[in-house]
Amino acid sequence: MAATPSDDRKYRHQRTQLVETLRERGIHDEQVSSAIRSVARHAFVDPALRDRAYADEALPIGLNQTISQPFTVAYQTSLLDVRPGDRILEVGTGSGFQAAVLCEMEARVFSVERHDALLGRARSVLDGLGYDVRTRHGDGTRGWPAFAPYDGIVVTAGTPEIPTPLLRQLCEPSDEEGASGGRLVIPLGERGGQTMTRVTRTGSGPHDCAQEKFHSFRFVPLVDEDEKNA
Ligand code: SAH
Repeated sequence: MAATPSDDRKYRHQRTQLVETLRERGIHDEQVSSAIRSVARHAFVDPALRDRAYADEALPIGLNQTISQPFTVAYQTSLLDVRPGDRILEVGTGSGFQAAVLCEMEARVFSVERHDALLGRARSVLDGLGYDVRTRHGDGTRGWPAFAPYDGIVVTAGTPEIPTPLLRQLCEPSDEEGASGGRLVIPLGERGGQTMTRVTRTGSGPHDCAQEKFHSFRFVPLVDEDEKNA
C-alpha cells in the first residue's frame, strides 16, 4: 500500500516521540537525535511490522538478523562522533537503517553485508529514499580496503575479538596538536552479551590505539567467514 500524507504525519509524530524516549534513556547528542527524527524507519522494516517501527525495539528482518534497536543505533552513532564529510564504514548493513542515519549526519557512508538478499533489500530502500551509500557484498571482518582509511568504523554485530584489518583501516591522527585518529565502535564479547567498545587510533601503527568501554548490549554475531562460526 502506498504511503498517504496522513501516514506521513502519523509517522512523523511517532518519530518525535521516539526521539523523546531516546533522550530519556540518555541520548543527548542533538545531531544524532535530529538524524533519527529524519529517517523513515518504517520503510526499513517488513510492512507487517510497520506499526512497531517507532517503538524502541529491534525487529526481525529475515535470515535470523535484526534491525537494531533505535537506542543502540543512536548510542553507536554518538560514540562515532561523526563530523560532516567524515568517511564512515559500517560492517553489517542489515536493513540499511544505520547507514541512512549516518547519511543524515552528512557522512560519506560505505557499508558491507554478508547476506546478499539483505543487501539487495537494503539497497532498494536506500535508493528509494535517496540515500547515497556505497555497499559491498562480502565479509566485513576484512573491512573495505579500497576506500580506506576511515574516520569511523561501526560494527553492528557482536564479536569476541577486534578484526585487525579494521584497525589498519582507521585514519591515523593528523599532525595537529591533540588530534586523534579514526574511531572504531564495536560490541566486544561472547554471544550472550557484549560491551560497547570504542577504539581510537593514536599513532601510525595499527596497534597504537586507546580503548574505552561503555554499556552492555546483545547483538547478533559477527560471522568470521574464515572461522565459519555462523
Ligand atoms: N546495521 C543494521 C543491523 C544489522 S544486524 C541495521 O541498521 O539494520 C547485523 C548485520 O551484520 C546482519 O545483517 C548480518 O548479516 C551482518 N553480518 C554479520 N557478520 C558479518 C560479516 N562478517 N560481514 C558483513 N556483515 C556481517
